[in-house]
Amino acid sequence: MQMRRKDIRNSGEFLWRCDLDSVSIDAQYLKRFPFMANNSTGITRIIKAAGYSWQGLRAAWINEAAFRQEGVAAVIAIAIACWLDVDPITRILLIGSVVLVMIVEILNSAIEALVDRVGTDYHELSGRAKDMGSAAVLIAIILAVATWATLLWSHLR
Ligand SMILES: [Zn+2]
Repeated sequence: MQMRRKDIRNSGEFLWRCDLDSVSIDAQYLKRFPFMANNSTGITRIIKAAGYSWQGLRAAWINEAAFRQEGVAAVIAIAIACWLDVDPITRILLIGSVVLVMIVEILNSAIEALVDRVGTDYHELSGRAKDMGSAAVLIAIILAVATWATLLWSHLR
């Protein structure tokens, strides 16, 4: 069943949604929840989101050895991809496959953090969640290695 606008606005869900996406807030809503004024409007929200993103990058770098190792490898790979005399599509595939590894590693680290926050004792579901995150990283790394091997091979021969 679909909620009407008014119902959505009265429910907690609306508050939650405001925090996540840029749902525009009308004047009546601001009158009732003035503290939302600075919270969700366009530019302020984007600046805050950028701050959270920077915190996330820092947290991944500080807490995750795998992220640091892949980060160093990614910077070197991107430098090589920029230096190589290849066409733009090849370059973007070389860089993109490596950036994808970083993205997946960050999401995997986020899952690990959440699982550890739930509890450090052994649980089948916690193990499953971490294993699946780890599998995603592995697939991204295989994709990057295959991309580099294929494109470098055809470039160098
Ligand atoms: Zn980890």
